[in-house]
Amino acid sequence: MKKNYLLTPGPTPLPPEVCESLSRPIIHHRTPQFQSILKEAHEGLKYVFQTSNDVYILASSGTGGLESAVVNFLSPQDSVIVVDAGKFGERWTEICEAYGVKADVIKVKWGHAVDPKDIEARLKEGKGSVKAVFVTLCETSTGVATDIKAVGDVVKNTDAILVVDAVSGLGAIDLKSDAWNCDVVVSGSQKGLMLPPGLGFISVSSKAWKLAENSKCPKYYFSLKAARKAYASNDTPWTPAIGLVIALNEAIKLIKAQGLEKIFAWHHTMAEAVRAAARAIGLELFAPDAYSDVVTAVRVPPGVDGEKLVKAMRDTYGVTIAGGQSEMKGKIFRFAHMGYIGEFDIITGISCLEKVLAQMGYKFQMGAGVAAAQKVFLNSGI
Ligand SMILES: *Cc1c(COP(=O)(O)O)cnc(C)c1O
Repeated sequence: MKKNYLLTPGPTPLPPEVCESLSRPIIHHRTPQFQSILKEAHEGLKYVFQTSNDVYILASSGTGGLESAVVNFLSPQDSVIVVDAGKFGERWTEICEAYGVKADVIKVKWGHAVDPKDIEARLKEGKGSVKAVFVTLCETSTGVATDIKAVGDVVKNTDAILVVDAVSGLGAIDLKSDAWNCDVVVSGSQKGLMLPPGLGFISVSSKAWKLAENSKCPKYYFSLKAARKAYASNDTPWTPAIGLVIALNEAIKLIKAQGLEKIFAWHHTMAEAVRAAARAIGLELFAPDAYSDVVTAVRVPPGVDGEKLVKAMRDTYGVTIAGGQSEMKGKIFRFAHMGYIGEFDIITGISCLEKVLAQMGYKFQMGAGVAAAQKVFLNSGI
């Protein structure tokens, strides 16, 4: 019987503890029982976000969190800087434009990371008028991570707030929200946090709250002031996604049992194995100098149809990876190693990739990728 493996940058596989919690009967949310669950979730999120700021839970996908970050702190005609190094950077610009916020876009070539000096230069050009800088922790469309610490260093002494899309990567790669001067950090449930889609998260610093006082963008469902008011009594303004919040606590328990440092090291090993495997079978990494430890983008070799490759892996063998988006459609594939993923998931994924590549006529030494990944695991001591 065909067995399914999910190696995509969202959704990611669910641990059994999370699945079990999702099968429990529903409870009512305006009860002391749920309030103590919500309190535990709020505290747990602070641990994962590495922040002492409040983290609000939204019933939305990650993009709802991104929209909240625009509408709660800005007004139409405000000037902001957006780093666009792929699909998700582009999304920041689109949301800003939808609300009449003026985005000064720093366009970064796909497969590269922004140079924090470029942000510094734009901030200087803006002469104090820039209200916010929008960046992406891991640009999922290219597999490239941003040096958030360095960006935080250039934004912290200005009037602008630093807003980070950490939907992809939070809980899997390091993001020290407070220590790295991030004012607003947005995440979602279906990536590093090992949950189904449906929850958005957003943390807010005191600098960002000050900006919120003058914000005139229209908002209702995503009003963070309403969320803050309810948060004080471990409540939410609207009906929360009760079942997902209960599952969130299970996921956070698993994360805490390991500890963030160990989880980051684990993801690094998974990523090293995938990168080594790709190179061993003669494939080129899409971003050889600027990759992330949560998703690896690999160039499809000449003569191979990238879309067919991804489709065959999924439809014939049940191994789902992601193809390229927009300008990289058919030209790269993206192999994710985020969340509840272990070494033998990687081995399975690589061996499936090898099999389908061989079937498609690509010439390489069969098994070289698996061997290279095995070697990384052996030497890593996990
Ligand atoms: C997945 C993702 C999002 C959010 O997408 P949703 O589909 O709305 O959950 C945002 N940013 C990045 C970098 C992502 O990878």
